[in-house]
Amino acid sequence: MPFSEDFLDELSRRNDIVDVVSSYVPLTKRSGVNRFGLCPFHGEKTPSFAVNSERQIYHCFGCGKGGNVINFIMEIENLDFRDAVRFLARRAGMEVPEDDQDRDRGRRSRMLELNREAARYFYGQLIAPSGAPAQEYIRRRGIVNMVKPFGMGYAPEGWQNLTDAMTAKGFTRQELVDAGLARVGKSGGLYDYFRGRLMFPVIDVRGSVIGFSGRILSDGEPKYLNSPDTLVYSKSRSLFALNLAKKSKCGYILLAEGNIDVVSLHQAGFDSAVASLGTSLTPDQARLISRYTQQVVIAYDADAAGQKAAQRAIGILQPLDLKIRVLKIPGAKDPDEFIQQNGPTAFKNLIERSDSQALYRLEQAAEGFDLTTDDGRVGYLKAAAKLVASFPGSVEREIYGIRAAEKAGVSKEAFLAEVARARRQAAAAAKKKLDRESSSPLRAVQPQARQLRFENVRSAVAEEGVLNLLCRFPEQFGGLPLTGADFTSPSLGRMYDAVTARIRQGRSVSTAALAEQFSPEEMALLAKILQRDDEIPAAAAEKAMGDYINKIRSERDRASAGDDLRSYAEKLKQTKGYGS
Ligand SMILES: [Zn+2]
Repeated sequence: MPFSEDFLDELSRRNDIVDVVSSYVPLTKRSGVNRFGLCPFHGEKTPSFAVNSERQIYHCFGCGKGGNVINFIMEIENLDFRDAVRFLARRAGMEVPEDDQDRDRGRRSRMLELNREAARYFYGQLIAPSGAPAQEYIRRRGIVNMVKPFGMGYAPEGWQNLTDAMTAKGFTRQELVDAGLARVGKSGGLYDYFRGRLMFPVIDVRGSVIGFSGRILSDGEPKYLNSPDTLVYSKSRSLFALNLAKKSKCGYILLAEGNIDVVSLHQAGFDSAVASLGTSLTPDQARLISRYTQQVVIAYDADAAGQKAAQRAIGILQPLDLKIRVLKIPGAKDPDEFIQQNGPTAFKNLIERSDSQALYRLEQAAEGFDLTTDDGRVGYLKAAAKLVASFPGSVEREIYGIRAAEKAGVSKEAFLAEVARARRQAAAAAKKKLDRESSSPLRAVQPQARQLRFENVRSAVAEEGVLNLLCRFPEQFGGLPLTGADFTSPSLGRMYDAVTARIRQGRSVSTAALAEQFSPEEMALLAKILQRDDEIPAAAAEKAMGDYINKIRSERDRASAGDDLRSYAEKLKQTKGYGS
């Protein structure tokens, strides 16, 4: 653990959350141990942002943000955990102990330096006479002007070119291996990871070279080779060319499939093209995009794989409230080929005429049905109505409803009636789900963060109850016959174990030390649990704890009984030849 728990405990003792928050947000209302103010994280007119002086946490009943004093500083100052700790230490006049993470920091900056030197080396190899194969490729693709802005280079054939050049500059073997630039061979010697490849540095938005992507110049495999994840590079959190695209003035980000597509698009004047490397679009990358634009145009390959990836990307981008359009590229396999054949202006027109994701999905929905038959039209009608019913705006539903009605060959009224029916069905299903969830005396509300969603709500409600009572009455409940493994929610289970461990060590149940082991989303959930409004009085705590534990056990037994039944049914099927 980078910071000691003692240090973090002292830090939170010296930074009272009410003082810290008050310097950002006037806390005007008071109710018991809580003070309320207007939430700094979402717009509101009546205060629903609560700061609890007893438990040293904050929780917004409006937007769900929450945590301890460190989480607050992370959020409001936009700092990572370590910098938030430094910030608070400075505020309280405390000295920050030197530690492992500072060593990491040193390793990090060394690795960035090595990457920069490697990029320089690759560039030198590209412009040297020996870089002829790469120069030839660049000329053929018509991307000569892109060499400089992208910092392109060439990794020559041979096993130790880069390794020798970098060790001569004082980098160690270990540093080369850690950066993913070299590997250890069977004989124990190092060999270059990238050989005979056109090199594209991956540059982050701050301008640091964090990794590389190399395209092979011969016929070998794989066509693209990407740096492995390292201390400074995470594939799933980086986007190729975002350092350039963020400066674009065109108002949208163009999402392409691979690095050569991106370079060709930039060459053709589309300076907002980016791509994910060695992975399909991830939620982290989508969030990164949403920091720089409100609109995304997906320009994936025209083949089935590309279209499937586009559908997936829509699903990942949609929760971020971005305007999403999807490009269809007629008569070419990818954007580059289209531009080679038809020129940049035609491609620009294609972007301007591109379908909104709504229309795109309607068209995709039609693909499974034969619209020349009645059955096919009915099938499409139902699928399209369900899709249109999911659009949030009534204008949107009307506009796309008309289009879909035309396609299905029915009247607009008939189609919109079908949409209304689908909406009623969806609403009824949602209500039923809510009823099921709230049938428990303690209203179970799913955590805001999707990745924390509870699988077993009944058990999770009891698990939250256990955590609440444990934190409020640590002396009473320090030695429960329960471990985190008994919990159905992995996050709640880990929190339970962490809090119990602190109690066992005789520490206070301060959440400061937890902010490092748990994500901001988990901390917000913990703050919500500690701040529930339907709190159980001390006198009833013992009884309530017993009920919670019984509930957790009975849910676990029910689940395993379900497993038993399933395996019994499986067995029956096999012995008697039932099924299929
Ligand atoms: Zn809020």
